[in-house]
Amino acid sequence: MNLSERDKLYNWHPYTQHKTATDFPAIVKGKDALLWDENDKEYIDAIASWWVNPYGHSNQVIADAIYEQLTTLEHVLFGGFTHDKAVLLAEKLMTILPANQKKLFYSDNGSTAVEVALKCALQYNYNKGIKKTKIIAFEDAFHGDTFGAMASSGISFFTEAFKGSLLEVIRIPVPTSGNEEESLKALHDLVSTNEYAAFIFEPLVQGAAGMVMYRPEVLDTMILICNQNNVFTIADEVMTGFGKTGKTFATDYLINKPDMMCLSKALTGGTIPMAITTFTQEIFDGFYDDDTNKALFHGHTFTANPTACAAALASISLLQTEEMQQNIVRINQSHLVFEEKIKLHPMVKTTRVLGVILALEIVSEGQESYYGTMRNKLYNFFIENGVILRPVGNIVYVLPPYIISDLQLEKVYATIEKALEIV
Ligand SMILES: *Cc1c(COP(=O)(O)O)cnc(C)c1O
Repeated sequence: MNLSERDKLYNWHPYTQHKTATDFPAIVKGKDALLWDENDKEYIDAIASWWVNPYGHSNQVIADAIYEQLTTLEHVLFGGFTHDKAVLLAEKLMTILPANQKKLFYSDNGSTAVEVALKCALQYNYNKGIKKTKIIAFEDAFHGDTFGAMASSGISFFTEAFKGSLLEVIRIPVPTSGNEEESLKALHDLVSTNEYAAFIFEPLVQGAAGMVMYRPEVLDTMILICNQNNVFTIADEVMTGFGKTGKTFATDYLINKPDMMCLSKALTGGTIPMAITTFTQEIFDGFYDDDTNKALFHGHTFTANPTACAAALASISLLQTEEMQQNIVRINQSHLVFEEKIKLHPMVKTTRVLGVILALEIVSEGQESYYGTMRNKLYNFFIENGVILRPVGNIVYVLPPYIISDLQLEKVYATIEKALEIV
């Protein structure tokens, strides 16, 4: 049996109906934007392995930082101790985060980063004796798969089985072009009831919904409305963070900054799972008390793991190089050129580009479901042609590693054009 066959004996894959799933390629090597499977077939990783890998696979700089850390101090508990890499990483993040972010809390993945933010919003109010127990979120939001994060997520098939066991979250429309007024009004109506602890959102781009985009101006207004009504704002930058939108963070496009931010995915360049929730001083102060019970009783065994912190430090230094910044601009310009061309295609309904993200909506009859027939046909076509793209329903998006070459990018575009002929 090869690896693909042996895999099926024991491994349970994410978001997978194993009864209908085909064999999965077994990847044995990765370098830069490329992956190779056990049969030596080459793939271009055009979605940076779920958006975690902007500096490319098997990056030497990050690998060296990890090796050095592993042979110096691989781990120490963060309860009651600290270490140099957590201090250095905090100092580094403070130089790139919005100026109102003053405190960091470490956890393991995007979902836990969201859990921490939600718990802080709820407990901040509890500590002050204020009854605010509900959360506001966008329709079609995705914030992760643990209970609090799942409750905030609006894509129904991820959450349907757990209705009734979830935190109370009320949804408002996404302020995409033409829907701004409706969205603002819905937010306004909710915040004026004084029942809401926080508004959580994916700033400017809803990744899992299919790279749905909206303008910074309307988000600025929404944050202002929340500020005026004492509702905390949580920017879930798990997908958008570290350059994806063309700026370090999507919130860098805003005038009004969120109270909390969630970071993960590209934080360690796709090497070691880690996440960070960041806070204003005001939120931290809501827990700062002589009373022990007012502390945030949350933690994970691997909180602020030194090896992950070392990987994050190396990753951020890569992001800050002139070369990487130029790569982001290069990909953006290349996307814009392809967009101009492809939007004229009769099978293309809409297109959008922000930073290194390109999305196009394919004409389809009726509503295409998330894992529907068109999606599966496209997905299989891309894999056969050695390009990793995971369409969402009838939306095809590209979010490549920043180091992807022009030639590889051209192959991705050409494969999308070919795919339009088969749907
Ligand atoms: C992926 C994602 C999450 C969840 O992160 P995990 O590491 O998968 O738990 C949360 N929010 C957003 C915006 C994401 O894209």
